[in-house]
Parts: sequence; C-alpha cells; structure tokens
Amino acid sequence: MDRNEAILAELARLYPDAKPELHFSNAYEMLVATVLSAQCTDVRVNMVTPALFAAYPDAAHLAAAEPAQIEPYIRSCGFYHHKSQNLVMAARALVRDYGGEVPNDFEALQKLPGVGRKTANVVMANAFGADAIAVDTHVFRVSNRLGLVHADDVLQTELQLQQVIPKGSWSAAHHWLIYHGRRVCAARKPACERCTLRALCEYAQAAAQ
Ligand code: SF4
Repeated sequence: MDRNEAILAELARLYPDAKPELHFSNAYEMLVATVLSAQCTDVRVNMVTPALFAAYPDAAHLAAAEPAQIEPYIRSCGFYHHKSQNLVMAARALVRDYGGEVPNDFEALQKLPGVGRKTANVVMANAFGADAIAVDTHVFRVSNRLGLVHADDVLQTELQLQQVIPKGSWSAAHHWLIYHGRRVCAARKPACERCTLRALCEYAQAAAQ
C-alpha cells in the first residue's frame, strides 16, 4: 500500500458513515440547498430549508415566485439578495429547458444561474450517485496539506484527486475530506497532535522538522 492509499484507507476507517450534511429528499432540494450553502454552514442551511421547501416544493413553484418573496426564508444564510435571484433564475431555467426537473448532466447544471463547478459536482454526486469530487474549502485545504495533491487552485485539486483516488471512491472521499476538515484539520489550527494521519501528512511532517 503506498502513502496515498494509506491516507485514503485511514480516512475511510475514520468516517465510514460520511454523507452529505445538507438535508434533502430529491435533486431539486439538493440543488437549492447547495446554492444556499455558499459562504454559509450546512447547519444554518438545514434550519431554513424546511420552511422554504414547504412554500416552494419544486422548481415550478420557485420559478413562479419573485426573488423578493424568497429573501425572508433565506435571510440568515447570507448573500440572501443574490442567492434568491439565482435560485429563481435557476428554477425558471429548469422549467423552460428541462420540464422543471434538475438535469442529470454536469455540463447542463453548470450553465444554471448560480451553479458553478463545485455545486454541479455536489449535485451530481449526491442527487444522482455519480462519481464526482466537489472541491470546497475543506477538500482543497486537507488534500493539499496531506499531500494527496499539490495544487494552487480548486480545479487543479479536483483533477489531481481524480488521479489518486479510485473513481468509485470519488464521492465518498469528498465527504471524508470535508469531515476531516471540520473535525480535525481546521483551517487556522489543525489538531495535528491528535490526528491519526499525522505520520502520513506532508504538512505535519514538514512542521516537525
Ligand atoms: S496531521 Fe495536521 S495538517 Fe495533517 S491532516 Fe492531520 S490535522 Fe491536518
């Protein structure tokens, strides 16, 4: 087993139940929740989505709304003005181009208002079970610190992770890295002293020298 394989095996051991922390029951809810999660915690998003989904249960209902009507539901998520505009515009695009359904298509998702590469990957993996690695701030930080990748930006991180992780584990590895970033490898103060990956981690090894 090489170093990368050992890292992935330990992450799998640490987080066997890793899964999306956003609450959703279908692709539409996954898409909306992921758009709301930008610059916001999943916990906060999960607090606002029950009322939002009750009022706007599908793309057709959301498309018929004005952005100002959405704002009160999502105000606490931050950037609510911008997010409400993107959500309504995305819903209108879904109704216009996809019969109100969220397309199971990475390229099509990326063309929706407010949906970038990361969000499209999250939706593909979580709503459609596709092999995809969404690189958020945790995945970027932890995978570079560990030395799984050596990348300057999120796109290079995604492409390099695809090279070192078996395809069938892409989605799971995405969740492992997020869990580790939230629970152990914090941005400002990683808890290297209690991290079971320390002996395999480039950042920790460099700091020890
Ligand atoms: S050893 Fe430190 S830097 Fe490396 S993954 Fe663990 S917490 Fe993060």
